Amino acid sequence: MLNLVLFGPPGAGKGTQSEYIIGDYKLVHLSTGNILRAEVEAGTELGKYAKQIMDEGKLVPDEVVIQMISNKIDANPQAQGFIFDGFPRTTPQAQALDELLSNKSTAITCMVSLDVPEDELVSRLVKRGETSGRADDNEGTVRKRFKEYTEKTLPVATYYQAQNKLFSVDGVGSLDEIYGRIKSVLSRYV
Ligand code: AMP
Repeated sequence: MLNLVLFGPPGAGKGTQSEYIIGDYKLVHLSTGNILRAEVEAGTELGKYAKQIMDEGKLVPDEVVIQMISNKIDANPQAQGFIFDGFPRTTPQAQALDELLSNKSTAITCMVSLDVPEDELVSRLVKRGETSGRADDNEGTVRKRFKEYTEKTLPVATYYQAQNKLFSVDGVGSLDEIYGRIKSVLSRYV
């Protein structure tokens, strides 16, 4: 299996690049942000609970997102691999993911981190907010999401680096250029 963690701050292009990758590598795309937004849209109890946290730019509790990912892994027994997008976002999430995959006799293959300077991210997200309809794509909430990212999510890169699985790619350029950089990392494995 090819199990990829696509990592990077809000607005780095994880969702867009995931779409490219799933087309070529036939992986199952698991985005905790997309799953949570679907719950909000459907008006479920989980959605109602999560909406408030998401609108504040904070992280949903680990046990909630870990359970969501566990369910999705179980629901895709035939998968040739997964792209984890926006997950894991804390070290306990990364540890839980290692355990979930090890129970399925597999593991994370690598983490690709998209590096984009913060100024560029803010302008991308505020621009995205004009069309995305996402309540959290406004400058105030974006700043809070960056704070969460720096404090809680950045250590996840160190976690994978310690396993020699971290690859950083430049996340600035055309979509094709960035995808080319990701493919050159993946070519080590497939
Ligand atoms: P995203 O679409 O990945 O930017 O996620 C949007 C929001 O959903 C985040 O700001 C968090 O509130 C929540 N969220 C998504 N993934 C996670 C996660 N792995 N852990 C905690 N909260 C998450």
